[in-house]
Formats: sequence, C-alpha cells, structure tokens
Amino acid sequence: MRIALLSREPGNYSNRRLVEAAEARGHVIEVLDTNRCYMRITSNMAEVHYDGKVLPRFDAVIPRIGASVTAYGAAVLRQFAATGAYCLNDAAGIVASRDKLLAHQILAQARIPMPVTAFANSPKVTRDLINLAGEAPVVVKLQQSTQGRGVVLAETRKAAESLIDAFRGLEANFLVQSFIKEASGADTRLLVIGNKVVGAMQRQAQEGEFRSNLHRGGQALAIKASKEQMSIARKATRQLGLAVAGVDLVDSADGPLVLEVNSSPGLQGIEAASGADIASLVIQHIERHVRTLGPARDVKATRTPSE
Ligand code: ADP
Repeated sequence: MRIALLSREPGNYSNRRLVEAAEARGHVIEVLDTNRCYMRITSNMAEVHYDGKVLPRFDAVIPRIGASVTAYGAAVLRQFAATGAYCLNDAAGIVASRDKLLAHQILAQARIPMPVTAFANSPKVTRDLINLAGEAPVVVKLQQSTQGRGVVLAETRKAAESLIDAFRGLEANFLVQSFIKEASGADTRLLVIGNKVVGAMQRQAQEGEFRSNLHRGGQALAIKASKEQMSIARKATRQLGLAVAGVDLVDSADGPLVLEVNSSPGLQGIEAASGADIASLVIQHIERHVRTLGPARDVKATRTPSE
C-alpha cells in the first residue's frame, strides 16, 4: 500500500513508530505536513497538492492532525477521502472529538455515561450553570483543551464564579462539569482499534494535582481493563464514528464515566505501559480495510466529467 501520514511533527514517537511499522510490513509511507497540503476542488476530480505538485493517489491516510489545525486538517482529510483514499479516522469524527461540547452531546445521545456537564453562552446564568453541574467543587474546562491545559478545578462556588468570569473575559468557550472526587487523580486510557480494545493503562496524577495527563507529570501503569470499561470505550469510539481512539475514563461511585475520546492518541505511554505493538495493529487495521474496499479507485480515470 501507499500510505500518507498527515502530521506536522514527523519526528515524534507516535509518527516514528507508525512509519517503522508500515515499512516493516512492506508498505510505502510518506509523512506530509498537513498545513503544506492544498487542494483543487472541482466537481469531476479531486486533487491534493504539495510543494507545487499534485500528489499521487494514496490507498490510505493516517491523520495525526494537531488541535491547532483541526479545521484545515479536516478539509485536507476530506479531500484525500474524495480521491478514494481510506482515511483511518474521518474528518467528521476528528472534528467532533476535538470539541468537548459536541463530543459530550453525541455520547449522551447513545447513553454513554459521563460526568454531568453544563454549558451556556450567556454570562447571566453563571450561578445556575454551577448548580446544573452539581455543587462545588466543579471542573471548568476550555472547550478545545488538550493535554489538561485548559482544565481547572474550582474548589468553591466563589472560585468557580471568578474562573467563569475570567474565561468569559477572554471570550473563551468552556464547560462546567461535576468533579469526580472518587477518581482521586487517576484515569484510565483505553486504546481502541476497530472495535477492539488493544491496550490499557492507568494514569495517576502527581501529588496535589487532579489532572492525570502524562504531559502534566502523570505516571502510567499497565492495568487490565474491566469488561464494563472496555464496552463503554468501544461504544464511545463507535458513536463518534472513529476507527482508532484513546478513550479516557474515570471511575466514579456509579461506574466508569467517559471524560474524553482522543482521535489522535499518543502511542508512547500506552505502548510502554501495555507492552503492545500498537503501531503495527494500526497498520494491520488499515490493511484489512483497504483490502475490503479493494485498491482505491483512480478517481481521475473513473469519474465522468460533467457536461
Ligand atoms: P484534556 O483534553 O485537556 O486532557 P480532560 O477532560 O481529559 O482534558 O481532563 C484532563 C484530566 O483532568 C483528566 O485526564 C482527569 O484526570 C482530570 N479530570 C477532568 N475532568 C474531571 C472530572 N470531571 N472529575 C475528575 N477529574 C477530572
């Protein structure tokens, strides 16, 4: 197969591992900088251009699009899909997973358990917004937060109100969420590939910190996920229309709750903790799909030009 890996960071661990795994399985893989891709949109042929040339047709595309370029990355990915390439995760799934509000709404439709979450546009309802999420402490999250950067714990109602005022002053969109104290700074990351859980790790936040992100100094350890955790993670991935996802769960008194579904999950922590060769499993998943679809159509040759 000829595979394109869309990323702005060719040297990072996950991308290196995916390139290694694809080459080890006899494929040709090229890393393309998402922002350097551009496109020619016409009604009878789809083209993606790069450095002054039209790109050859790829059988599959692995999107590893950074949060800062989600909208443009999604457009590039749709264009690759229009050329007939199999996209590991599609643009709609990536866009939904990046927007915490949209993702929670989509997951709620399928009755997937999550912490109670409240959202509002009007500054007049701040008090009620906190009530809707439960009593303080509450967690206030920027809608587009990643790596725990925009996630803050407000211990008291007063602190929550000040925080919300500050976020509003910055014109930032945010969610207010009930704080799951029982989680004690731990969460579980399950890696799902094609409706199967292929890796699990527990992340424990540093002393005095409630966010367990590895980027925030959290420690990862291997765990065996429960049936319930696995079933929720598979369902959440499917519901967002993703083939590959890292699903973050916290354990509450009422069972596991979904915090986030990540459509470009990092491989380093989960490969180290679980010992699984996740990169090869991703490539094998692509092989199965491209085989099922058959070699991608040559869109230029098969589409009839409009009259
Ligand atoms: P991000 O996408 O920025 O990583 P998350 O929603 O995943 O944001 O939150 C980051 C971390 O903060 C989680 O991994 C978890 O450890 C902690 N956390 C987030 N929301 C809650 C909550 N409602 N209750 C308890 N802990 C939470």
